[in-house]
Amino acid sequence: MKTAVGSAPTVLVVEDEPGIADILRITLSYNGFTVHCAATRREALAAVREHRPDLVLLDVMLPDGNGWEVCQALRAERAADPAGDELAVIFVTARDDPREVVAGLALGGDDYITKPFGIDEVVARVQAVLRRTRRDTGGTDRVLRHGDLEMNEATYSVCRAGQRVELTPTEYNLLRHLLRHAGQIVSKEQLLQHVWQYETVVPSTVVETYISYLRRKLDRFGPSMIETRRGIGYGLRAVEQA
Ligand code: CA
Repeated sequence: MKTAVGSAPTVLVVEDEPGIADILRITLSYNGFTVHCAATRREALAAVREHRPDLVLLDVMLPDGNGWEVCQALRAERAADPAGDELAVIFVTARDDPREVVAGLALGGDDYITKPFGIDEVVARVQAVLRRTRRDTGGTDRVLRHGDLEMNEATYSVCRAGQRVELTPTEYNLLRHLLRHAGQIVSKEQLLQHVWQYETVVPSTVVETYISYLRRKLDRFGPSMIETRRGIGYGLRAVEQA
C-alpha cells in the first residue's frame, strides 16, 4: 500500500538469508523507506500484489526459484496492466558473471548489486534507481504531503492549508527530514546528523531552537504539527486522512 504521506517510497526486500534481510530492512527503514520482506519466490509475488512497492530488492538465489523468474513474472503482470504502478527492480546477486548480469537486466532489472555489498552502496543505488524511475512517472512524487502540509522538493516551496510558509534553508531541511519520516519519531542525534551533518560549531540546543522556529511558522495556519517525545525525539503528529 502507498503510505499516507504519499512520499516515503516502499521497498520490498526479497532475501532468504534472515541476517541479510534484517540488515537491509533496518537500514532502509532508517533511511526513510517503508520496508516489507519476503523470503521466497512465492512470498515475493504475493507481497508485490499486497504492498505494491516502488522498488524490489531481489535476491537471485531463492529457495523455491530464482530472482530472474520473479522479475519476469512481475514484468509480465505489468505488461498486462499498462496503467499499473511503475515498479523498479534491483537484483542482488552473489554471481558476478557479467553474462548473468546482462541477462538479468535484459529481463527488466533496473540495476544489480553484487554480494557482499556495502550497506551504504545499497541505499545509494536504491535512491538512484527511484529517482530515475519515479521521475519517469511524471514528477509529481517530488511533493511531500502530511495532512494540510505540502512540500514541493522541485521548487523548495512549502504550503500549509494553501498558505505559503517561508522557511530558511535549515528550517526547510529539518522539516523535510521530519516529512520523510512522518509517522516515526526522529531522534535529536539523527537530526543533527542529517540536517546539520555534525557541524562542529553547532550547540547541542540547536535542534530544539529550530523546532521552535518551525512550530511558530507552521502553527499559524492550523493545529500544532510537531510532537516532542521527551528524551526520544520529534515527529509529525498523525493526521486524519481525507
Ligand atoms: Ca539467497
